[in-house]
Amino acid sequence: MKGNLMVAANGQTVNEPTCFSQEPAEGRVDASPLPPTVRGACPSLSTPMQTGDGLLVRLRPATPGLTVAQYRALAEAAETHGNGLIEITARGNLQLRGLTSQTMEGLAADIDRAGMSVQSEIAIETPPLSGLDPSEIGGARTLAKRLQKAIDGLVPKPRLAAKLAIIIDGGGQLTLDGLTADIRLKAARPGERADPLWTLAIAGTETTATPIATLPDDLAIADVVMLLKRLSRLGPRARGRDLDVAELRGQFSEARLNARAEAGPSISPLGIFSLATGGYALGVRPSFGQIHARDLLRLLAVAEESGVSEIRTGPEHSMLLLGLAADKLEHVRAAATSCGFQTRGDDPANHIVPCSGAGACASAHYATKQAAADCAIIAPELLDGSFKLHLSGCPKGCAHPSPAALAIVGVPNGHAIVLDGPASAQPAVNIGKEHLKSALALLGELVRNDKVAGESARQCLKRLGRDAIATALRQG
Ligand code: SF4
Repeated sequence: MKGNLMVAANGQTVNEPTCFSQEPAEGRVDASPLPPTVRGACPSLSTPMQTGDGLLVRLRPATPGLTVAQYRALAEAAETHGNGLIEITARGNLQLRGLTSQTMEGLAADIDRAGMSVQSEIAIETPPLSGLDPSEIGGARTLAKRLQKAIDGLVPKPRLAAKLAIIIDGGGQLTLDGLTADIRLKAARPGERADPLWTLAIAGTETTATPIATLPDDLAIADVVMLLKRLSRLGPRARGRDLDVAELRGQFSEARLNARAEAGPSISPLGIFSLATGGYALGVRPSFGQIHARDLLRLLAVAEESGVSEIRTGPEHSMLLLGLAADKLEHVRAAATSCGFQTRGDDPANHIVPCSGAGACASAHYATKQAAADCAIIAPELLDGSFKLHLSGCPKGCAHPSPAALAIVGVPNGHAIVLDGPASAQPAVNIGKEHLKSALALLGELVRNDKVAGESARQCLKRLGRDAIATALRQG
């Protein structure tokens, strides 16, 4: 069943399970929010999460996208029931902030009234343009629907980790290669005229996940279901990394391990994409992943008058406006820029990934979004696109769970500078609270002065090495 909360025939609100592993419970919206430090929690409508600016709710529409009218209803609800701040997460989920236990029921009712159903069960993620992308190799959305049906039919229901993620990626203009998943299927075409096959891999991004087999549609579905049953047997917290790779590989013949799709070059979701159905999609992103409802409403007005038929969220905090004619693209892009959206793939600020940060998250030790804005001015040398600069308010690393070449992580007495690791990794050096701007400037200066011809910022930092960078920052 879809939807975190629905209105029953008798008019009562009914909580639905936030996670595949939970049983539905009837009654009013649970007013006991999750504390901010609960790992593996789903801050859904029925279980909002306590943050620094009130309750946070995360929504994943059960449909590929929403209409302009539905987004308008969502933005109005965010202002009415919360503090108006709306975020798009790195995985394309929507987050509303600043809610209270008193306003949750009104929010749920408004969402229901707008005809939005939100995904509450196992997350099967597909690229935002799946089904509309002329270069998609395999029909990811179709396969996802078939897999969902197969999972829905399982008796007993598998008990799975709340954050378990399945990615089905048909290839194409926009992929989900950079997102981690417990189980992933990626389409590859073994020959020019051959039907697509799916490479099944576990635990990681497209680059780091372990491939298990390459399979046609039916077997891909059957084997993902098999993996889910295994995970269920391992316990409700089991993740893809807990599966026995050697044992799994032993079950597949050598022939089924060939033809792995290569991870393609990463394409920014910001910009213009042609659609198989005619027309275009314009990819935009709220600056540093967050927008106020009133600014979103301004953009929606322009989008509506320009003929946008649907809006989908995508990776890297993006939002894709679908159905635009060629002569409307620049008009809508200019409006998006004036409303506070990033609209170009070559904007240096695209290479900074801040989490919500201080003022929005109770766990944050610094204002990450302000630091991101500062960095774009102070240290543009770091932002050549060769890596993502991760600004994390604490070691949890919500905004960039995978390792980053450089992460600046908030800790109680200042900032931890992490090189080539996730936010929780051992830092190369710690700096005091007041030294963030000077550290950014120094890192930019290091790259500016030490970069040799043809070298990227990332290569330069790597060549300089952890010890030299740590020493420079200590002395600075
Ligand atoms: S990483 Fe950022 S958003 Fe996540 S818990 Fe820490 S401070 Fe909050």
